[in-house]
Amino acid sequence: MSTFTRSFDHRLHTLAVRGGRRPDPTTGAVLTPICQSTTYAQDTLGADVVHTYSRASNPTVSALEEALGALEDAPAGLAFASGMAAISTFALALLRAGDQVVIGDPVYGGTVRLAQQVLAPLGVDATFVDAGDPADLAATITDRTRLVLLESPANPTLRLADIAGCAAACRVAGVPLAVDNTFLTAVGQRPLDLGATVSIYSTTKYVEGHNATIGGAIVTRDEVLRERVGLVRKTLGTIQAPWDAWLTLRGLTTLPLRLARHSASAARVATWLQDQPDVAQVRHPDLHDFPQRDLVRGQQSLGGGLVAFNLTGGLEAGRRFLSAVRLCTLAENLGAPETLVTHPATMTHGDVPVEQRRASGIDDGLVRLSVGLEDPDDIIADLAHALVATREVRHA
Ligand code: PLP
Repeated sequence: MSTFTRSFDHRLHTLAVRGGRRPDPTTGAVLTPICQSTTYAQDTLGADVVHTYSRASNPTVSALEEALGALEDAPAGLAFASGMAAISTFALALLRAGDQVVIGDPVYGGTVRLAQQVLAPLGVDATFVDAGDPADLAATITDRTRLVLLESPANPTLRLADIAGCAAACRVAGVPLAVDNTFLTAVGQRPLDLGATVSIYSTTKYVEGHNATIGGAIVTRDEVLRERVGLVRKTLGTIQAPWDAWLTLRGLTTLPLRLARHSASAARVATWLQDQPDVAQVRHPDLHDFPQRDLVRGQQSLGGGLVAFNLTGGLEAGRRFLSAVRLCTLAENLGAPETLVTHPATMTHGDVPVEQRRASGIDDGLVRLSVGLEDPDDIIADLAHALVATREVRHA
């Protein structure tokens, strides 16, 4: 029976389709089977077995983990029940009372909530820093810093972290750097190659990509760290379920194709938005006036599928605009086939204290658009109609 043996020489599209998969040895099934079992029979007491109990590991989950690792020239990653399960498990594996964690600003609101409402009561201090300037990060690291966690592009403003610069600062300080690579995935950005210790994913977004599962993952080349996080995952029970892992593995197959289209359509929509009178500060990494173009060139191979923009009419205009869209769906997720539109100040970042939110550039008029796989002309037509509806109410 032919088998696919992973090789670091295989290219991205090949790894997305074939990584971690091999025909099932008992049936020859080409697709990885869903192994829906809690436990695994052992021939003798103390036998050397791969899987014992699905809170520790599961064959379908392992196939996904191998595939995610292969995409970043790393050993198998670790899959989790959600992106937040990945981030929380990772943080709890590394941090204890008295430690400091430095977090990029802005980041997803759930990560801020983890820091302020879960880690702080456990005695872990969080300091937020603009990771666009590695010198700021270096100055923030203290002898109590045990972890630096950044997002790039960051949710929701698309501010970039200088990953290589921050990795160098972390290396000097002897602190691991974790980069949340949810927005670009390994297809658009390779944090480990830029010097990060860990790549973190909400696979809920582009990796699974069909708005069908909640999931998360971490990938690292540091075997000791992987072992530690695996132990904490087994203890907390934050592993992904086999059915969700199977769906995520299937989504991964088309990730490079989907992300390329998401990116191209997002650039097109962003360019159109720039010409609209009621719209200001359109941000997409492929726009010529994106403020961190040098970083885009140095660390991203794609612009990504997200666009951030402000409505000049503020919160009220945002409310009317978001009620007027028809094709675009008002919802919290991103990276889905359907174009999703979000109001970060009241939705994804509603738990971030208002002063911190405004200081991070998440003002009340900010709209986050996750450009889907529909025809971009239809997306633009819907946005045009919603802007007109917003204007008409304002002038009435
Ligand atoms: N990281 C980023 C950048 C996100 O946008 C999100 C969710 O929106 C998460 C992590 C959390 O992922 P999940 O919703 O799968 O727990």
